[in-house]
Amino acid sequence: MPTDTSAEISVFKRRESKARSYCRGFDTVFTSAQGSEMTNAEGRSYIDFLAGCSSLNYGHNDPDMKAALVDHITNDGLAHGLDLHTDTKAEFLKTFERHILGPRAMDHKVMFTGPTGANAVEAAMKLARKVTGRTNIIAFTNGFHGVTMGALAATGNGYHRGGAGTPLSGVTRMPYDSYLPGGADTADYLEAMLADGSSGVDAPAAILLETVQGEGGLNAASAAWLQRVAKLAKDHGALLIVDDIQAGCGRTGTFFSFEEMGIAPDIVTMAKSVSGYGLPMAMMLVRPQYDVFGPAEHNGTFRGNTHAFVTAKVAIEKFWSDDSFQTELAEKEALVHLRLAELAAMVPDGEIKGRGLMQGVDVGSGDLAGQICARAFEKGLIIETSGNEDQVVKVLAPLTTSEETFHKGFDILIEAAHDVLSKPTTLAAE
Ligand SMILES: *Cc1c(COP(=O)(O)O)cnc(C)c1O
Repeated sequence: MPTDTSAEISVFKRRESKARSYCRGFDTVFTSAQGSEMTNAEGRSYIDFLAGCSSLNYGHNDPDMKAALVDHITNDGLAHGLDLHTDTKAEFLKTFERHILGPRAMDHKVMFTGPTGANAVEAAMKLARKVTGRTNIIAFTNGFHGVTMGALAATGNGYHRGGAGTPLSGVTRMPYDSYLPGGADTADYLEAMLADGSSGVDAPAAILLETVQGEGGLNAASAAWLQRVAKLAKDHGALLIVDDIQAGCGRTGTFFSFEEMGIAPDIVTMAKSVSGYGLPMAMMLVRPQYDVFGPAEHNGTFRGNTHAFVTAKVAIEKFWSDDSFQTELAEKEALVHLRLAELAAMVPDGEIKGRGLMQGVDVGSGDLAGQICARAFEKGLIIETSGNEDQVVKVLAPLTTSEETFHKGFDILIEAAHDVLSKPTTLAAE
């Protein structure tokens, strides 16, 4: 049956809150998706370089996850289980232990939080405060940790922070790696502030960071900086929290984004791609000695999304039971870097940002980046911007994207940039 797209779109304008966002840039009605492609109501297909902001690292509707989920539903497996013991939760935990935590010698406990990333961050901040008896948490410029009150206090972006409508407290902001002009080492600054009882910075409960800032502009911290910050946390009795919600689950080329950085976080927050299938699921990993919440001290009705446990287990088994997927990721990282270099060369001072399969190009202005993404969408590619001024064109394709589809997507992106740059009047007029 043909769908009347314009009538469908009008219901969104008429009824859906103005808080809606991504749909404004990609103004069509999507009806199905498979792998790295999404299809709209007219049957037009788009290459997806956004992947639910890294919630679909294994692509849309992975056939093995889908089959397991359909089986589970057909057999009347639980859909919702609070935090009861269920067979699916047991299976997920065993699989995660066997293929992820065990091989990495991580003895962390797994705590299922409410199903959003923000909730995992809230839990992590609360836990660090409980463990240390301190309130202050160090977070960094351009960090993004979610939009509930605690997580928002740790988020840098002023527009999001402004939405709180009340003072956000309990967090001290420090400059992230390479934030200061002239190459000053921001770890020196952090060290000095923590060492001086008169600096005005209270002893922290935790240092909270992303190893690659996903929303903040694909700033990738160096291993040396991360190691110094981790040591400072330890020396000052603070917990190190790595927010791996966007950079985890293979996005940087390894399962955790910190694996090759030489640091061992006390707490890791995970969400986005952890279910593998785009289903809501979040958790935090906690070193056993810090696992001190009492029963239900941090709780949530949706800690047992059993559908997500089913697909998450398949995702770990299918992609992380040996190192073949990781080897593929290294090859794709090189491809992405090479194609992004073409885009970077098209704009003055174009700079490649990020690492792994979360890379992009800083094109110098949010206006230009926005126009390139808008033009790319007209040509059949879904891609978004990132950064403090939305100046970074960000590639977050499913990690399972084939080389051929990657090239098709990049061809569109380069053409789109060419179209925009060859019409400078359009740029000036807007
Ligand atoms: C998306 C994101 C969050 C918030 O997750 P939600 O599910 O949107 O609440 C937190 N931290 C990072 C690094 C993220 O990318």
